[in-house]
Amino acid sequence: MLVLDGKIAAAAVKESLKIKTAQLAAEGKRKPHLAAILVGNNGASETYVASKVKNCEETGFASTLIRLADTIDEASLLSTIHELNSNPSIDGILVQLPLPKQISEQKVIEAIDPLKDVDGFHPINVGKLVQGLSTFIPATPYGIMLMLEHYKIETKGKHAIVIGRSNIVGRPMSILLSSNLKQGNCTVTICHSHTPNLKELCLQADIIVAALGRPGFVTADMVKPGAVIIDVGITRVDDSTAKKGFRIKGDVAYEEVATKASAITPVPGGVGLMTIAGLLKNTMQAYEQRADS
Ligand code: NAD
Repeated sequence: MLVLDGKIAAAAVKESLKIKTAQLAAEGKRKPHLAAILVGNNGASETYVASKVKNCEETGFASTLIRLADTIDEASLLSTIHELNSNPSIDGILVQLPLPKQISEQKVIEAIDPLKDVDGFHPINVGKLVQGLSTFIPATPYGIMLMLEHYKIETKGKHAIVIGRSNIVGRPMSILLSSNLKQGNCTVTICHSHTPNLKELCLQADIIVAALGRPGFVTADMVKPGAVIIDVGITRVDDSTAKKGFRIKGDVAYEEVATKASAITPVPGGVGLMTIAGLLKNTMQAYEQRADS
């Protein structure tokens, strides 16, 4: 059984980006620059954004973190986004989700210039993804594709089950796996909370991508021997024995499923790290596209 180690695969992506950034510096060019907006102080969001900023710095990118109070109104947030859209030194913009109730996430996503939309959530970029055009691929599915590529996982002709149909993970993942790509060409079944026969479907799968946010949901009796298991889930589960008072749990019952799988991602240390790798790749792509234009 192969552990699909996010640390190793993400380090390889970061290393190639570091080399490119050093090359840019040697040519006297500016660095790729990511701006991240964090609204409020949700613990998980704080952790994700801090990690994104840290990884930018480690890769040699510039980063700007804009912190806004959770009482901010929608118009003020949109105006901050418009400023970043027209700021020539910013290549990529991300707004950490979720946002407070008074703000429409959809309006925020649509306010970001599609050419700076490094999260790949803007409808224009989603449309391009569906049509197989060059675009920003949402960072988590992108990271999973990079992970499959790094470990040379054969996907062509395989049956992939994606559990979860969100715009940020499940749906784009299903599109990528079914696309005519090196790590695509799967027959894909996308499952969700109204899928009645999930266990039977999973038992047919060569690849399972679990992205539903239910800790330990995928158990060994749902997995065909030799399947490849990608665990996207990140849920904080209370644990008084842990230093922080909680532990991060994935959507897969790792210990028991690992005994049947041919390859599996751990949580933590799997897809989460690849998400950041996907974001960094998108930021470099945004920089290069703007430098070309
Ligand atoms: P979401 O809540 O937007 O979507 C969950 C999906 O799961 C829905 O489509 C729903 O229909 C489906 N679902 C829920 N219960 C189900 C059930 N019993 N059977 C089948 N389908 C069911 O969640 P999301 O934003 O897509 O995130 C999913 C998980 O992935 C969460 O744990 C989240 O924290 C994690 N996540 C991880 C990363 C990463 O970098 N590793 C990135 C994004 C999200």
